[in-house]
Amino acid sequence: MRNYNGRSQILVTGGAGFLGSHLCERLLADGHDVICVDNFYTGTRRNIEHLLDHPRFELLRHDVTMPLVVEVDQIFNLACPASPVHYQHDPVQTLKTSVHGAINMLGLAKRVKARIFQASTSEVYGDPDVHPQPESYWGRVNPIGLRSCYDEGKRCAETLFFDYHRQWGVDIRVARIFNTYGPRMHPNDGRVVSNFIVQALRGEPITIYGQGQQTRSFCFVDDLIEGFIRTMRLDGPMPGPINLGNPREFTMLQLAELVVALTGSNSPIVFRPLPADDPRQRQPDITLARSALGWEPKVQLADGLRQTIAYFERLLSVEPAAAGA
Ligand code: NAD
Ligand code: UDP
Repeated sequence: MRNYNGRSQILVTGGAGFLGSHLCERLLADGHDVICVDNFYTGTRRNIEHLLDHPRFELLRHDVTMPLVVEVDQIFNLACPASPVHYQHDPVQTLKTSVHGAINMLGLAKRVKARIFQASTSEVYGDPDVHPQPESYWGRVNPIGLRSCYDEGKRCAETLFFDYHRQWGVDIRVARIFNTYGPRMHPNDGRVVSNFIVQALRGEPITIYGQGQQTRSFCFVDDLIEGFIRTMRLDGPMPGPINLGNPREFTMLQLAELVVALTGSNSPIVFRPLPADDPRQRQPDITLARSALGWEPKVQLADGLRQTIAYFERLLSVEPAAAGA
């Protein structure tokens, strides 16, 4: 019944979030039927408003910590707050979303024999002492710190994915996503790209935590979504988790200077205390993604930032309150 029309029925959990909304758009453009599930914890209707009247799009308000019964061919499990401010707001709920959410979605995948994708994270590597990070690295994670609800929740979700695969033969895909940015990032989520852009556009001080020498590698959202699609289309059994991210690495100071230059802002750069357990460096080793998926990011940081700045300019002009004005 599911394939009677030759299209795939695809469930996207966390579909009203930053990455989820871009994924729903892409899947619709590829001709699929999309069921978007979200409890609007950090996502907004604004992100998917333009899809609501699409004949192949369906929105369900649902919390993935509760079981869900739908008939689908594929599941993308993205539901989980992703920014430190959001995931530390209610750490127990963050863990429940990662762990109970994974159990519920894997149970669904097992019942309907769907292929299931997990949005895992570079945080499984913690504050790494191997650089750049290959998939074979087991990580250096504090199990009881402020970031643990997210890091350990995602690590446990990976364990569940691989155990459901070994024990029940569930067809899994696990991507470890490195810092991604682009239009529809939440203006108040505290992540560095959205913070710096909103601060620059409003002429407020750009807040660098620590000395700004810590590094991150930033991937533009369109590149990442292409990586998701290729991971899901990969034939045969999953080789293991796969890193998706941009290997170009920048210090936070470099990022701040670039944002100031691109916005033409007069904002001063100020230094604030470094949050606990803040990783010093992060860069994906994408050798596996290159060979297994033929994938690598194409968008340069300055180009991606221009598109993101244009998005926030529009958002702040129509909805100044969206960024806490
Ligand atoms: P986001 O906060 O914009 O999106 C998460 C979505 O999940 C939101 O729409 C939220 O309302 C929804 N959600 C949260 N808890 C839920 C629950 N219990 N039930 C149903 N829906 C729930 O974040 P994002 O940046 O789009 O991240 C999406 C996924 O990708 C997350 O799993 C995140 O851990 C992962 N990820 C993102 C990045 C990144 O740089 N953006 C990096 C690594 C991993
Ligand atoms: N950061 C910063 N100023 C900000 C927000 C974040 O200097 O206003 C730093 C933060 O301490 C971290 C890096 O930017 O070192 C990336 O932070 P983000 O929250 O975006 O992602 P994550 O730490 O999860 O990689």
